[in-house]
Order: sequence, then C-alpha cells, then structure tokens
Amino acid sequence: MRFNENRDNPVKKECVRINGRSVLSLAIAPFLSFEGLGNIVVTYREGTEKEIRNALMDADIPERAELYFVKGGETRTASVRNAVLFLKEKKQGSPFIAIHDGARPFVTRSLIERTLSLAVTYGSSAPSLPLTDAIKKEKDGFVISSLDRSCMKRVQTPQIFRADSLYEVYSETGDDASYQDDIEPYVLHGGKCRLAQGDEENIKITYQGDIGKTMRIGYGNDIHRLTEGRKFVLGGTVLPFSRGEEAHSDGDVLIHAVIDAILGACALGDIGTLFPPEDDEWKDADSRNLLRAVLDKVKPGIINLDSTVTLEGFRLSPFIPQIRKSLADLMSLDITRVSVKAKTNEGLGELGSGRAVKAEAVILLSSAST
Ligand code: MG
Repeated sequence: MRFNENRDNPVKKECVRINGRSVLSLAIAPFLSFEGLGNIVVTYREGTEKEIRNALMDADIPERAELYFVKGGETRTASVRNAVLFLKEKKQGSPFIAIHDGARPFVTRSLIERTLSLAVTYGSSAPSLPLTDAIKKEKDGFVISSLDRSCMKRVQTPQIFRADSLYEVYSETGDDASYQDDIEPYVLHGGKCRLAQGDEENIKITYQGDIGKTMRIGYGNDIHRLTEGRKFVLGGTVLPFSRGEEAHSDGDVLIHAVIDAILGACALGDIGTLFPPEDDEWKDADSRNLLRAVLDKVKPGIINLDSTVTLEGFRLSPFIPQIRKSLADLMSLDITRVSVKAKTNEGLGELGSGRAVKAEAVILLSSAST
C-alpha cells in the first residue's frame, strides 16, 4: 500500500519509525556530521508542523547548525522555493545548498561527500544510477516506441547547488511551476549539473513495503569451557546440568553469539569491544542484561534469529521451547521468529568429550539504525 493513500488517516511517510527513529530523522542524520553545516530547513504541509517537529525530536542537531521549519507549498517545487528563498532572505553564509527528500532515510555520508565534491568543482551535482529495465513510451496502454536507456539516468537526492545560482533560479520560478526535481529548473536556467555515482540503497520510501527493503545479516559464535560448580545458563535460562560455563560473566554462550550476530549485522565490532572482559563492571554479569544493553543501543529491527548449540553430556531438546521463549521475550519477538537447535559433536574433540559448549547464531535485521 502506498503511503498517504488513505485520506482520512494519512500516514506521513517521513514520520514512520524504523527501529525507533523517524524516517526524517534518519534522512537528516548523515548531514549533521559535516563540519561546514550551517542551516537546516525542513518544509512541512499546512497542518503537519507538530507531527514533523515531533519526528525530529531525537535528531542530534549540532550547535553550529540552526534548524528552521518553513511552511511548504502545494507542490514539491513550491515547497523548495519557499525554503530556498527563506535562506536567501536570511543571508546565510553557506556557499552550497543540498536539497534532500525527507523520505530517503538510507542516504550515507560517503554519497553526500562525493556529490558535494563534484558540486564544488562544477557548481552542481546529484547522485544518479543507470536504468536496468527496458524503457517504453506508451499511449492508451500500447507501446508506441522503445527508448534508448543507455543515455538515461535515474536521479536521486541530495541535489547540491551553488547557493547564489539556486537563489537566482528560484527567484525567477513562478508560483504555479512544478518540476520533478531541482535540477530541472536549474538546467532550464542554463546551469550545468555533473552526475555523481548514486546508491541503490538510497531509496525513496513510497510503499509501506519499502521500509523493510534494506536488510542486513549478522553472524556470531561463542565457545566456553565447562566446569563443575558453575551454573549452566543458556539463552537466559538456567538448566539442570552438573557443569556450567567458565567465564567472566555468567558465560551464556547462546546470548553471546546472538549479541555478536546483532553487532555484526551493524558492523559495530563484537561483544568484547562493548563489554571488555578486563572491566570489572561485567564480572559475573547476567548476559540477559548485556543483550538488553545492546538492543537499547542499536535498536535493531530483528526479522528472525536462527541458532545452533553444540553440547554433549546433557540432552538439550526437552528445554528448547523454554530457551526459545526466553530469547523471544528478551528480544520482544514472536516465538516463531526464534529458532534454537541442539547438536552433538559426534564424540569428536573438546565439544565431543563434553569439555565445552558452543553456540552459533545468524540474525536478519530489517535495517541498521546506526
Ligand atoms: Mg562468551
């Protein structure tokens, strides 16, 4: 279903949350790390100002930047014109203006950097990608000609322009003008726009299904020695085994593997980086709290978890439902999304002799919010 299709209850796609952050806040985030950032102008449709301001409540706006909210117009062009003329009026000093769709939350710093670098050299730049489907011109449902796609590009945002040129273009743009993007009037005014390499992940959220399009996979494993006189903890549950894991924390190998899988999917290192074994704060730590801390930090949109525990000397299978429920509760997931499997090691090696327990986990995230 398309966003804003239901007029009685329009869902503003910029305000939809992905892993706890609004689309708009994610779309702005990579711009905030630029040293030269001056002003940020967000346009809103009449009657939506409160909603839009709320969507940016968690945005970490640096002190050097000012955030302004400007009422948009009937069309995209009218909204951009209001924002550009607002900046002109303010006589803000930035030599460049980047115009970005609030519904493109997966934009990266490197995409902005390469587009800006070309805009500095050529006066204007925008990220672009080739077309892969055949392109046809149609009339009344019939193909009337085939177009040469090799000379066509799909153009994304941010589109970056020299500020003085953009002031000129939008000062001369009428109230009723409506363009597809900002390059269109810029080029019509004689401006030159150099295309930069775009990014397939920099999608514009249009359909509700788009939210889940950027997925990340993570893998983690862990092994601990087994020793007498320790509790055996697995997936946050204590099991009646005569031996338990030797470890700085409670030694829950399964939770440790799950944590590494989540951190891996986000390219954030591993459990040792976050909870160093030499740090006494984590001595005998309940691994459930370590997992809660990671979930809180990363806010991953977990789609599903699959895991395997290798152990000999204790039959895990009767406890699998209990372990799955424990993990599902910890991660606020439906139990059907959490799989735990038990294996032996066929009597081979340390695992086979029952001297150690091992866990492996793979996890799929709908997107990484970091
Ligand atoms: Mg461990």
